[in-house]
Amino acid sequence: MSPTLSRADWRRAVVTGGAGFLGSHLCERLLEAGLEVDCADNLLTGDRANIAHLLERPGFRFVECDLSAPESVQALAGPYDLVLHFACPASPVDYLNHPLETLDVGSAGTRNALELAHRDGARFLLASTSEVYGDPLVHPQSESYWGNVNPIGPRSVYDESKRFAEALVTAHAAKRRTDAGIVRVFNTYGPRMRRADGRVVPTFVCQAIANEPLTVAGDGSQTRSLCFVDDTVDGVLLVAASRAVRPVNIGGSEEVSVRQIAEKILELTGSTSRISYVDRPVDDPERRRADTTLARELLRWSPSVGWEEGLKRTISHFAAVG
Ligand code: UDP
Repeated sequence: MSPTLSRADWRRAVVTGGAGFLGSHLCERLLEAGLEVDCADNLLTGDRANIAHLLERPGFRFVECDLSAPESVQALAGPYDLVLHFACPASPVDYLNHPLETLDVGSAGTRNALELAHRDGARFLLASTSEVYGDPLVHPQSESYWGNVNPIGPRSVYDESKRFAEALVTAHAAKRRTDAGIVRVFNTYGPRMRRADGRVVPTFVCQAIANEPLTVAGDGSQTRSLCFVDDTVDGVLLVAASRAVRPVNIGGSEEVSVRQIAEKILELTGSTSRISYVDRPVDDPERRRADTTLARELLRWSPSVGWEEGLKRTISHFAAVG
């Protein structure tokens, strides 16, 4: 790990949602950088299996707690130098299954995590999302775009939760002088996603490996810019180590359609699956691509793993775990 990914004086971090997909990769990278890491997770969508290989590592501790409950702050003794707030269901299937928990962790959970950072004088980073841009009317999406979100649509539980969380972070930084930043993470994929988490890459990869039909929503012309998890982790840690207070986009640079993703996965797996066209989810964004000019200029970050290479690595993972 490059030394620029962690501040020299950081000793201990807490990662909320540390047993999740992205959270567990962050725990691993922080341990590799020599930090002690507390992983806080209520295991609603996280999984002990994601951190099983870390439990024996010196400096790693798992704390089962619900960030939305105020007692969680007492369970997290610290003192921390870094609070990465990544607790939240992140897949549309998950947040639609857990709408109230999603709203709670974005509101009360974020407030509690901010209090924790303020208590210890730690750097705080909120995992926000490209979903704050909703179904965007501006393309590609830069941080200056305010978004197009349906406040009462089914996705609002996630979108508005994250938008509210961004407002909380901004207010905390202004009023309490908390050293707080925001990273807007675009579609990330890679090893350790749950097979059934509902997101496009694990779903298609597992369907292709099982020679089952790939469930392309609508006509598959909607687009995303995929980012491989290792690149996202680099970007997140660079935003954390920076003094940035304004949001920073971290996401892939290549815009691809859902149909292209399906076809590429069929090609790379050699699967005999066919494509089955299914209904589009309500308010499913039509076009999404990260404008990462700010990350490039501020942090010299840009993704290094192309989508074909990233998909190959993800397919190997799912093929190995069965
Ligand atoms: N999608 C799809 N089939 C699936 C799962 C997802 O066609 O089995 C589509 C989904 O409708 C969306 C895109 O893939 O247009 C990305 O969905 P995902 O849930 O991965 O992330 P989102 O960007 O919607 O949060």
